[in-house]
Amino acid sequence: MRNSLSIIILGFLVISCGTQKNSQTVIAKPTMPQVSTTKPELPVHKPKIEHEGGVDFFKENIADVTKNDNTASYGSIVSANPVGYKVVKTFFPAVGQNFRQKYIILHYTALDDDKSVNVLTQQSVSAHYLVNDLGDNEIYQLVDENKRAYHAGISAWRKDIMLNDTSIGIEIVNAGYKTDSSGMKIFPEYSEAQIKKVAALVKDLANRYMVAPTNVLGHSDIAPTRKQDPGPKFPWKKLYDDYQVGMWYDEAAKQNFYDTAVLDDYALQMTVPSFVFKIQTALRDFGYGINPNGVYDDATKKTVEAFQYHFRPQNYSGMIDAETWAILQALNLKYPNK
Ligand SMILES: [Zn+2]
Repeated sequence: MRNSLSIIILGFLVISCGTQKNSQTVIAKPTMPQVSTTKPELPVHKPKIEHEGGVDFFKENIADVTKNDNTASYGSIVSANPVGYKVVKTFFPAVGQNFRQKYIILHYTALDDDKSVNVLTQQSVSAHYLVNDLGDNEIYQLVDENKRAYHAGISAWRKDIMLNDTSIGIEIVNAGYKTDSSGMKIFPEYSEAQIKKVAALVKDLANRYMVAPTNVLGHSDIAPTRKQDPGPKFPWKKLYDDYQVGMWYDEAAKQNFYDTAVLDDYALQMTVPSFVFKIQTALRDFGYGINPNGVYDDATKKTVEAFQYHFRPQNYSGMIDAETWAILQALNLKYPNK
């Protein structure tokens, strides 16, 4: 119908132009732009809506990956049902949209399997997913991905705060740390089965919601003065190497920073305000919620410790050394905070 209408209008325009061209008496006027009376064909790809059990679903990824624009759509479409009116979904999708799910935050429960389920379902804390330690192939979903779970608390990363609003929370069953006689925190291992589950889950989430590598984080990264989970036994490097999720530094860049560093006594440097300020600024630039003040205070020590849990798990003393400083600089080089 629309095509035949276009042909008729086009035909009319051709005839009009021909008539005008053949007329010798008409004085040339500036050409006015032709205004089309037909509705423009919108260059919008409309993904198919599928109906299942009375619920509508989009099942097609419509994201433009070249723009790194996460406009993909998955899952059920939740719509208003105003009395006396019909909500029309035909013109979906608008280009101006993205996912609310911007972060993936990993935790440990510091409880056993049964208690973890109990606390995370019956109390005021929750998470979207819970990874048990039973060696089976199940991952429990406790909260709809489109809804907010209460797992992050007071938190910050780069320009964002209160990350419950924008994150998917994953809790892993793990006993959490115990402090030894020297005051050192000792963290229990994760089982290999748990790591595989978490990695597969994070990969699925990161791919579907196009979560940036810089936004796959531990609870300790977004709340370093309060939290230690998932701790230094969580193998972030393995997730990066084997599953291509999250962040890791380039070894050569790290080595370069290490080699060019002035390798004097870092413990002494901690008393030099300008050096401490430099470290704090680098931590803040990377993403941590820290205010540079030139003093190696408790918040700074805990933030360095959180950084070490994630990127330098062999030594999480909370003190800066050449290795930690080189890794931090290599990460800021690779993942600049724009
Ligand atoms: Zn946590």
